[in-house]
Amino acid sequence: MVRALAIILIVVCFRSVPAAELQNISCEVTEQRILITIKSSSTIDAFQKPERKGSTVIIRFPSSTFSKGLIDSSCTNGNLALNVEQIRTFTVLRITASSHLGDVSAVRSGQQEVVVTIASAGGSNEQSENNIPTPNSHWKLDVIVIDAGHGGVDAGAEGVNGIYEKNITLAIAKRLRTLVQDKYPDTKVVMTRETDTFVELYKRTQIANESKGKLFISIHCNSMPSKPHPARGTETYILRPGRNSDAASVAARENASIQFEKLIDRYASLNEDNLILATMAQRSFVRFSEELASNIQKCVSSRTQLKSRGVNQAGFFVLVGASMPNVLIETAFISNPEDAAYISSVNGQSETAQAVLEAINGYVRTYEKAIGQ
Ligand SMILES: [Zn+2]
Repeated sequence: MVRALAIILIVVCFRSVPAAELQNISCEVTEQRILITIKSSSTIDAFQKPERKGSTVIIRFPSSTFSKGLIDSSCTNGNLALNVEQIRTFTVLRITASSHLGDVSAVRSGQQEVVVTIASAGGSNEQSENNIPTPNSHWKLDVIVIDAGHGGVDAGAEGVNGIYEKNITLAIAKRLRTLVQDKYPDTKVVMTRETDTFVELYKRTQIANESKGKLFISIHCNSMPSKPHPARGTETYILRPGRNSDAASVAARENASIQFEKLIDRYASLNEDNLILATMAQRSFVRFSEELASNIQKCVSSRTQLKSRGVNQAGFFVLVGASMPNVLIETAFISNPEDAAYISSVNGQSETAQAVLEAINGYVRTYEKAIGQ
């Protein structure tokens, strides 16, 4: 069933889509690298791997057009020349740089944005321990986004006790919001939903990015296809190619939420290549995602009745494109009678939210130290 669904998802993702119009290109030049951000009017369906020709980097965007005046004044720099032209259905971007020209990468940052990074000569785009966010307001942990999984027509999994995942996730999300607000009164908490409503997966990430979130926490419940089932405990996921078929099945079940959406063409197929690209887009902060995920597992096992099943990794649509550290928590197996009873109870939800808050506390200490605050 899961495999059949995965095949359907992959097939639908290859349907043609209307041309995207590239609308803005902005640049950020530092000694270490040149960052070029390309924004489009709609989902950028595809782009080709950057091609190097001498001091020029060429990137082609199939099925796209561009608007006049799209190159921002931030790209006016003595070391940099940008040129855009239309060749049949392709928009071709040429970037000529008189300096830099180390490793070149192009990755998605959300559905409508692609970021090209040109490292300085001899440098690498790989993030080193020293190449972490610098201390400035841009990285200040001032907004935390809490995502209650599912909602409305998308009930999520149904528990062995008849309770729906969407109701448990919302209850825990609200408890966590209150705890974060009490502990960090200067931090804004953004909820992707506050009621029993359906919110598309892409929109959840979009809400997080638009509210300039510095941390994204997606809350879910796990479930096995047959009930009752002995599997139980908590897993926290980060976005990366999966290590095992169990992780892939969890992601396939969560990603199936897009069946309730009108325009599922927007989701690029999460095959191995695309998942690697999506993961690369998050590499500057993946170690923070790992830190939070590991904290959550530790705090859940010490604070709640739930067993820790460890940190895991897979491709979740809801995490793709998040431009901030992010995790997805599978709080408990609602296909297991003990886990279901616990996570459906006020006590279980309250303790789980408390455990996540404690994990955030540890995260904040590490994060602030890392950015030098
Ligand atoms: Zn879920």
